[in-house]
Amino acid sequence: MGNTAAQARKLLADFGNTVPLEAGDLAVHSPIDGARLANLRSSTPTEVEATVAAAQAAFLAWRMVPAPRRGELVRRFGEALRRHKVELAELVTIESGKIRTEALGEVQEMIDICDFAVGLSRQLYGLTIASERPRHRLMETWHPLGVCGVITAFNFPVAVWAWNTALALVCGDAVVWKPSEKTPLTALACHALLATVADELPEAPAGLSAVLPGGSAVGTALTDNPEVALLSATGSSAMGRAVAPRVAARFGRCLLELGGNNGMIVTPTADLDLALRAIVFAAAGTAGQRCTSLRRLFVHESVAPVLLPRLVHAYASLVVGDPRRDGVLIGPLIDAAAFAAHQSALLAASADGGRIHGGESVSVQGAVGGFYVRPALVEMPRQTSLVSQETFAPILYVMTYRELVAAIELHNAVPQGLASAIFTSDLREMELFLSACGSDCGIANVNIGTSGAEIGGAFGGEKASGGGREAGSDAWKSYMRRATNTINYSRELPLAQGVTFF
Ligand code: NAD
Repeated sequence: MGNTAAQARKLLADFGNTVPLEAGDLAVHSPIDGARLANLRSSTPTEVEATVAAAQAAFLAWRMVPAPRRGELVRRFGEALRRHKVELAELVTIESGKIRTEALGEVQEMIDICDFAVGLSRQLYGLTIASERPRHRLMETWHPLGVCGVITAFNFPVAVWAWNTALALVCGDAVVWKPSEKTPLTALACHALLATVADELPEAPAGLSAVLPGGSAVGTALTDNPEVALLSATGSSAMGRAVAPRVAARFGRCLLELGGNNGMIVTPTADLDLALRAIVFAAAGTAGQRCTSLRRLFVHESVAPVLLPRLVHAYASLVVGDPRRDGVLIGPLIDAAAFAAHQSALLAASADGGRIHGGESVSVQGAVGGFYVRPALVEMPRQTSLVSQETFAPILYVMTYRELVAAIELHNAVPQGLASAIFTSDLREMELFLSACGSDCGIANVNIGTSGAEIGGAFGGEKASGGGREAGSDAWKSYMRRATNTINYSRELPLAQGVTFF
């Protein structure tokens, strides 16, 4: 299938990357075969400070560019992404191990958010509000916020940045990106592409978008920088727990998109053919490495004897291998640490009384340095503390239930609250699941799996999943500041609440 390192280098050169690939301490590997792709140099604290300062200067100019012109930059970026979709997806596959169709889908998501943001650039609406005073008017105005720091995870190496950047740019903000230390090459490619487009738009100032390769120390420097008005951080709940208090201590704003432990309930009236396909994609797709991957399945005891054997059979047919190969559905885990976490979760599940189907390690020809596993289904006697944790690997814990209310309670009894789903043909069951006493997640679906969100809706979760919302709906408001204006067009000065004074 070709040498991953050579392919990555050629792709990066084609994107116009100028960052040296052999300069430093940050070794980047392909999960496909473990090959070293590059040795980037991690950004120093001084570089972080200088980059944020340059972004702040760019912001001061960019905020005065009319929003539809800012949208023009994003429109052109979307066009560039369309032209380079295949090449960027190839790099995503090499660096993150996603199969081709999912990598293409990730780039499509970037294009979609650009389209959304272009429309949004003419719709940054504020309200006009009735005033209690005569000849007065209240209104809300949305202004650009400042520098938006973006920290991203390895598993969506480009789309999450694009969700943030497309909105931030039309909202008048500058963006400084700290990509995952596991996937900085795709970040360099995106940055080079955006820089080329920005160079051609006279209103776009230098420093409007920047990338800072490096590990968590670079993330911390960005987190602590007082000129970062909004820190949008995507990653584990542990990362969120580290950054949130630091940003709060300087009264900055945080947008957190953290870990998930997503559940699905399959009721007696479910269409099992649909449920089967949804479960397999949500739990095994992307090798279980999506924040929205399905990890907990609650099946009604009357349908479990039919559904489980079908699931076991479907799982056994999944082709595990080099994600560049046609027909492969399950690519590698990201690295050795992910494999170790996978192994120890299965050991613990077994000790908790779990019955494991699959989960074995798979050796893939020509990819000796990669970590490949067959997705695992684990029949659990109950929701143990292991099941309450997110293990970022293709492990689906299956439990049975008798009463829907009890199943919903169990579903909600974990720290995370990202994505959820119910499969049912019963209107009452569906409405209960979507109601105030139903799923406690930011995403609650019916007859569709937990993963694979569209950009039109606001994306994010509750509790340890962070509480942030990105992408569609009114998520743009996080990237702007709101001013409430009271305008008096009378010749009097009435005070609110009837107060009299001077
Ligand atoms: P991670 O938490 O290890 O790293 C994520 C990013 O945070 C990286 O760029 C990392 O360098 C940085 N980071 C880590 N510690 C930091 C700190 N103390 N200060 C500042 N930056 C820090 O996560 P990962 O392994 O790359 O990704 C997998 C995790 O991300 C899973 O938990 C997954 O559910 C979650 N995730 C969530 C979403 C979402 O939208 N909710 C999307 C993708 C991934």
